[in-house]
Amino acid sequence: MLGKDDYLNMKFSAQYLIRLDDACPTDKREIWDKLEDAFDRFGIRPIVAVIPECADPSLHLTNYDKKFWSRIKRYRDKGYAIAMHGYKHVYVTKGAGLVPLNAYSEFTGLSLDEQRLKIKAGYQKMLSYGINPTIWIAPGHSFDSTTVVALRLETEIRIISDGLALFPFEEEGFLWIPQQLWWLKKMLFGIWTVCLHPNMMTEESCAHFLTDLELFCSKITTVDEILKKKEYLHRKKTFIDIVFEKIFFMQRNLKMMFIKLTWSTKKERNSSPLLIQKQHNYKDSFSDNKLM
Ligand SMILES: [Zn+2]
Repeated sequence: MLGKDDYLNMKFSAQYLIRLDDACPTDKREIWDKLEDAFDRFGIRPIVAVIPECADPSLHLTNYDKKFWSRIKRYRDKGYAIAMHGYKHVYVTKGAGLVPLNAYSEFTGLSLDEQRLKIKAGYQKMLSYGINPTIWIAPGHSFDSTTVVALRLETEIRIISDGLALFPFEEEGFLWIPQQLWWLKKMLFGIWTVCLHPNMMTEESCAHFLTDLELFCSKITTVDEILKKKEYLHRKKTFIDIVFEKIFFMQRNLKMMFIKLTWSTKKERNSSPLLIQKQHNYKDSFSDNKLM
């Protein structure tokens, strides 16, 4: 368990994990390939969130890639951490759940039987292609305690990449590796997962990210390194984590209020202010993007 002294000693020791969401056979391969080349150069091993059976029309960006699962195997062989990203990536309920960032979900609010069916189908599909996912990532961050039970019953996954905290923590029998950033940002201490959506990146925003990556690459860690640090395995959330979470949501709510106000003054009410279709600057991505 980390105490006050540990936090003081951790000044300027922030480390980052890179997470790439929405890998699927119709994803934007040219951007994924560019990122992979850069990760090879810098020796970075990110988390990749793979959709087992993608049925989300907004992710049909290219022709179906018959070699998709070979690509995922290549990522795995390079030491990337492979996560199961929901089942079909289709939102069917309006629930937020344990990480209340978005009021839509593929899982939240469904019965245990319904969730078990989806999770079993997704997990078995990945296993059938020789991929053994070790991490859970819910589409839209939206899942509930029932999802966690279903994961325990249907899979061997015991890590969740989500939640707001400064360091990984143990809850409901799972190790939660928090995900708090959507771009690389200088922090003093903590373990920060930076979630990116390559399918929304343009050539320009990808180049922007790679410039940042070069600056931060010595600070980037891997899931394997985190697992080696046994102190996280049974760490409970502390007071400081809870304060961080509250500040995160306060800032976010203020930001959303500001965006909605700005949007309504522009009289563009027919489109959602929360939807950014293309990231010309990769920092334009934020937590309500519908592709998360
Ligand atoms: Zn997603």
